Amino acid sequence: MHIRKRVMVTGGAGFLGSHLCDRLLDDGHDVLCVDNFFTGTKDNIAHLMDHVHFELMRHDVTFPLYVEVDQIYNLACPASPVHYQRHPVQTTKTSVHGAIHMLGLARRVGARILQASTSEVYGDPQVHPQSEDYWGHVNPTGPRSCYDESKRCAETLFFDYHRQHQLEIKVARIFNTYGPRMDPEDGRVVSNFIVQALTNQPITIYGTGEQTRSFCFVDDLIEAFVRLMGSPPEFPGPVNLGNPGEFTMRELAELVIELTGSRSPLETHPLPEDDPRQRCPDIQLARERLGWEPRVPLAEGLKKTIAYFDELLGQRSVSPS
Ligand code: NAD
Ligand code: UDP
Repeated sequence: MHIRKRVMVTGGAGFLGSHLCDRLLDDGHDVLCVDNFFTGTKDNIAHLMDHVHFELMRHDVTFPLYVEVDQIYNLACPASPVHYQRHPVQTTKTSVHGAIHMLGLARRVGARILQASTSEVYGDPQVHPQSEDYWGHVNPTGPRSCYDESKRCAETLFFDYHRQHQLEIKVARIFNTYGPRMDPEDGRVVSNFIVQALTNQPITIYGTGEQTRSFCFVDDLIEAFVRLMGSPPEFPGPVNLGNPGEFTMRELAELVIELTGSRSPLETHPLPEDDPRQRCPDIQLARERLGWEPRVPLAEGLKKTIAYFDELLGQRSVSPS
C-alpha cells in the first residue's frame, strides 16, 4: 500500500529542487517547498502552484523552522561559483546555520534528512577519480572556501547528529549536474556555453580548457536522490552521485557547438582562482548500495537542455555571467 509522506524540500525553487518536487509529487507525496528565492525562482515551480499536494513557503533556512514532516531534502544553498562568491558570508550561513536548523527540526519531529553535499568537498583533488574515502584537498581561505568548507562543516554536523542523536541521515556528494531549469545567468559552464552558442556569442573558455568535469543529467540525479532517501537506515553515506564520463571544457564547448550548429568562436579567459583541475566520481558505492548508475549520455542530456534554453531565449533575452 502506498503511504503518502510529508516531504520538505529546502531550496525547492532551485534547479535541482524543482525537479525533485516534481518527482515527489509524481510518487504521491505531500511536498512542502521551502525557499527564500536567493537563486531560485517561482518560474521553476509555477506549474505546481495549483497542485493540491504542493505547498510553497518563503523562508530563509538560516532561521529556525517549525513544521511537521516525515522527510527532509536539504538543498538550500547557492551552487554556482558566481553566486556563492558574490555572497560568501550568506553562503556559509546558509550551509552551516541552515544545516543546524534543519537537523534540529529533523530531530524534533523524527524525520529522515538528506543533505545535498558536493564534489567540492574534495577541493582540487590529488586522487583521481574521487572515491568517498578521499578526504580532499581544500583551500580554507580562498574564494571557493565559503562553499567548500561550509559544505564540509554541514557533513560534519550531519554525522554528529547521526552519532549523538541517532538521527537517520543521508549525505549525497553531488558532482556537476545539468539540465532544464538551470538559471541561464548563473555562470555555470553548461548554461553559459549553451546560451553563448545559441546566441552566436564567443564561448568563454576559462584557462586552457583542459580542466575536466563529469556531467550528470538532472533526471539521473533525482532518481539517485530518491533511492538514497529510501535506502536502509544503516547507510548514511556519504555517497558520490554523478556521471563518471569525464570531459575537458574544450571538449564540452566543441560538443555544444556541434549540437547547436552554432557559429560561435572559442575565446579564452583567465582561469578563476582555485578552479579544480580535474573531477570525476568513482560511483562504485552508489552502484552497490543504491543499484544506481546514470543512464543519460552527455550528448543526449545536452540536446534536452539546449531545447529548453532555445525556448527560454525565445521568450526573453539573457546574457551568461
Ligand atoms: P540553485 O541555486 O538552483 O538552487 C538552490 C536553491 O536554494 C535556490 O532556489 C535558492 O533560492 C535556495 N536558497 C539559497 N539560500 C537559501 C536560504 N538561505 N534559505 C532558503 N532557500 C535558499 O542550485 P542547484 O544546482 O539546484 O543546487 C541545489 C543543491 O545541490 C545545493 O545545495 C548545491 O550545493 C547542491 N549541488 C548542486 C550541484 C549541481 O551541479 N547542480 C552540484 C553539487 C551540489
Ligand atoms: N568554465 C568555463 N567557462 C565558463 C564557465 C565555467 O570554462 O563560461 C569552467 C570553470 O572554470 C570550471 C568548469 O568550467 O573549470 C566548471 O565550472 P562551473 O562554474 O560550472 O562549476 P564548478 O565545477 O567549477 O563548480
